[in-house]
Amino acid sequence: METVACNLCGSTRHTALYQMPDRRGYHPGVFTVVECNQCGLGFVNPRPRFEEMGKYYPKEYYEEEFVRNLAHHLRRYAREARYLRPIERMPGRKSLLDVGCANGDFPRFMRARGWLVEGVEISASSQPITDFKVYPQQLPDIPVNEPVYDAVTAWAVLEHVHDPMAYFRKASQVTKAGGLFVFLVPNFNSLASRRLFLEDIPRHLYFFSEKTVRRYLEETGFALETAHFGGGIFVLPAYNWLHYYVKTRLQRRPFTYADIPMAQPEFFKRNRLKPGVIATLKYALAQPLTAMDRALLPILTGIQILRKTYGICTYVARKLRG
Ligand SMILES: [Zn+2]
Repeated sequence: METVACNLCGSTRHTALYQMPDRRGYHPGVFTVVECNQCGLGFVNPRPRFEEMGKYYPKEYYEEEFVRNLAHHLRRYAREARYLRPIERMPGRKSLLDVGCANGDFPRFMRARGWLVEGVEISASSQPITDFKVYPQQLPDIPVNEPVYDAVTAWAVLEHVHDPMAYFRKASQVTKAGGLFVFLVPNFNSLASRRLFLEDIPRHLYFFSEKTVRRYLEETGFALETAHFGGGIFVLPAYNWLHYYVKTRLQRRPFTYADIPMAQPEFFKRNRLKPGVIATLKYALAQPLTAMDRALLPILTGIQILRKTYGICTYVARKLRG
């Protein structure tokens, strides 16, 4: 483990916000999420060193994470591609660098729309890509040092890295003036991220808000154009928000990791129930507060998107000239 200063402002003064174990239970240990007193950036501190991260990314992680149906992925890629339309509309063939491209399907989706594509992927667990260039290293280390891309994308990547500032700097270095840097990260100004233990700790190491993102961008030669909360690319619903309010507002006690109610899949497993209507009803009867929590969740989500407090945000930044 290592203790670090704030990646955005360099301050060593921060306040502990919450503690929790590895959310997926791959490896024992308890982690503390802190908030920088100076700039508000959130981060895991102390944290596993880069070389130690392998144990938090076992094979199951990639299986759990990427085995979904094709229709789901195509919907996602179409939503992601929308953010690149301002570039696409301009004349000439456009080039994209997709950071954290996994099995390469998003770059392929963009190539089918006429883009020249390249990718960056450090994970050896994903299938080898042979039909376009992929740099098998961290973005800051790739051997490209000129502004050659019209767009750089990073979908749910920056929260995983050990040095986000180096990523912002490199993205700026390789993006053409007037080009776009589009990235999606969880929103630190959300109940899900700050209060409900829904961040994928310790795979998520950094927690950004619109304010801290704006500052990263300003320091690296970008201007923030839009911050789009929600959007359906990835979701982070505020599960157990009702339990949180009951505990903190009615009972006036802190909401801790131990207060999280048993999730439906675990309930089914413990009671040997086959997923279905009956099993769902049994779960609702056993956990009425959870049933109410989930029933009202769509309303809360709508409010959060309007108030910019939803759990996920996509940022579009323009590379400045000169
Ligand atoms: Zn700071």
